[in-house]
Amino acid sequence: MTAMDARSRESPNAPNAPNAPNAPNAPNAPNAPNAPNAPNAPGTVARPKTVYIPDMSDHVVAVTGAMRHHGIPSKVLPPSNEQTLAIGLDLCRGRECLPCFLSTGDMIRECRQDTFDRENAIFLMPASLGPCRFGQYRILQRMLLDAEGFEDVEILSPTSENSYRGFGERPTPLRLLAWTGVVAVDLLLKLRYEFRPYELEPGATDAAYGRGLRIIEDATSAGGGRHLLRALDAIVADFAALPVDRSSPRPVVAMLGEIYVMLNQHSNQGLIRQLEAAGAEVVTGTLSEWFHFADETKMDRDVLFGSWLGLLGTKSLSAYQRMTERRMHARVGRLLRQPADPPMRKLMEMARPYFDPLLGTETLLSVSKVVHYAANGVSGVVNVMPFSCMPGIVVTGLAGRLRQDLGLLPWLDINFDGQRITNIRTRLEAFIHQVTQFARSRGHIA
Ligand code: SF4
Repeated sequence: MTAMDARSRESPNAPNAPNAPNAPNAPNAPNAPNAPNAPNAPGTVARPKTVYIPDMSDHVVAVTGAMRHHGIPSKVLPPSNEQTLAIGLDLCRGRECLPCFLSTGDMIRECRQDTFDRENAIFLMPASLGPCRFGQYRILQRMLLDAEGFEDVEILSPTSENSYRGFGERPTPLRLLAWTGVVAVDLLLKLRYEFRPYELEPGATDAAYGRGLRIIEDATSAGGGRHLLRALDAIVADFAALPVDRSSPRPVVAMLGEIYVMLNQHSNQGLIRQLEAAGAEVVTGTLSEWFHFADETKMDRDVLFGSWLGLLGTKSLSAYQRMTERRMHARVGRLLRQPADPPMRKLMEMARPYFDPLLGTETLLSVSKVVHYAANGVSGVVNVMPFSCMPGIVVTGLAGRLRQDLGLLPWLDINFDGQRITNIRTRLEAFIHQVTQFARSRGHIA
């Protein structure tokens, strides 16, 4: 389900988000010394054009809420579908990865709409450094927009190079506000996945989740801070009232891997629901961990290149984020059984026996989360990746050693190339059988 789906299915009696239209409460954060602010600098919004945001996951409500607070008009692109995949496959050369096909298709589909206001449109396409193809999407998409006759349509690309701070006229407060909204959505997702397998009224958890998304979007557009804390209190009250039966705990499976496929339900064919239908409870990676990861890798680069001012700025930002995150988690933690993730630096160190943290990429995140979850009662890992994903292939290569050290933890790699995988149900059922045996042997379930 996408954010838009969730919101459109909301109950009319959804709790009201705390209102404070006259009391913007954006977190005061240290200024990013390197954040570009010039009107025409790459990665900034100089005019109030509409920013089109890809609907990668429900976290999009945090971005739209933050943009609204900062006076930036935005619009969420419709979710990816077969049409966008067909457009992406038609325009790309075939060697790109699935998120590239889909995000390119989403963009071009919007451009081809009669109602598309090309003079006032900017597409948001974040990027990252490193060997991964993600940093190249915007270059290819620029070429394709030009070839399609949309030379005047801009692409806005905040990047992991500056930890996603080159964005908007006040980049650091905007980035921080969006980030706090992202943390709130991550917590809401954790609640959803811990409650849904045990709900007594089918659909009740998803309904509460939809209400929660609306509350988070409103609180973020009101400026975050205390509005977001009150929003989390309302969400906790809503979930605490859900009727559940946890007398027969399910084995827990960690769904990890490439971030787009992990979070985008169109790409992963609704894999979390399918795992639940096969008898598992699921934990998965978060979007906020990607921000922490970007911060830590930026600090490593700052040290490497002697950028001491940049290092100081990122250290302050990172410390502020961790403190805010702890406060937010404390509001929700009493309803969650999985512990909060350790600090990113500690997580990265957990991967060291298998993968040097200096090598970076999402491989590092996936490996460290496997080690972390295995120590916290998880009985199986599903490693999801787009077909030919470079970091994903490395994780698959490391799986043998990881499993050996983790007591032959059941493991399933799933590649997604945009075509429907037809035998997935059978594979999941066989996998969950293994997971259940493993969970029993470890005393995780009776
Ligand atoms: S992580 Fe994998 S799927 Fe994502 S852009 Fe990089 S190579 Fe492509």
